[in-house]
Amino acid sequence: MFIGHYAAGLALKSVEKKASLGMLFIAVQFVDFLFFILVPLGVEKFRLVENYTAINHFDLYFYPYTHGLLACVIWAVLIYGLWRYMPFFKTVGHGRLALVMGLAVLSHWFVDLIVHTPDLPLLGDSSPKVGLGLWNNFMGTILLEITLLIGGLLLYLRATKAVSAMGKYAMIIFIVVMIGLYMMVVTAPFDPNITVVTASVTSIAVFSILTAVAFWLDRYRA
Ligand SMILES: [Zn+2]
Repeated sequence: MFIGHYAAGLALKSVEKKASLGMLFIAVQFVDFLFFILVPLGVEKFRLVENYTAINHFDLYFYPYTHGLLACVIWAVLIYGLWRYMPFFKTVGHGRLALVMGLAVLSHWFVDLIVHTPDLPLLGDSSPKVGLGLWNNFMGTILLEITLLIGGLLLYLRATKAVSAMGKYAMIIFIVVMIGLYMMVVTAPFDPNITVVTASVTSIAVFSILTAVAFWLDRYRA
């Protein structure tokens, strides 16, 4: 899952308006950020295999520290703890905010569960692996990702109010651009020259840009 993760961020913002959309964008992709850092370091691993699934070329064969269910729960609890107990994050109502941030981290695994082939470990790498495999269905995956994202956008727009003309339209334009970017990624031909390191660095760059835009545009809605 790629853009669908951000739907969880938008939806969680709609239930806790004190949460920063930018922070939520980091939280929902937290384990992917970590994964694409650990891959170049050689800690976690994937291979690029042409048409490994109908939608992408990712053979994700070793990533228990970021995509194991147990690991995801631990990361979510850590992020919860950070917002709950660290003085820096302590603001009014930080308990609820902490819960929302923890849930955002945990949402990643369950959204991935729908699309991944059975490569998500429950515990460590040798434990049973799960995945409902929607990635084997090209149209199904695209429809789900776009539907989730638009659903998240609608919840966000309903829960927040524009404080300027920018706030009225910019988030909608951003989501449309995101869908366009996603379509470009999934329809791009396989490039055998791309290594796992370049794919990792590119992914981090894209996630970071999307996060920066979310921080920026969220300021125009209250
Ligand atoms: Zn993931």
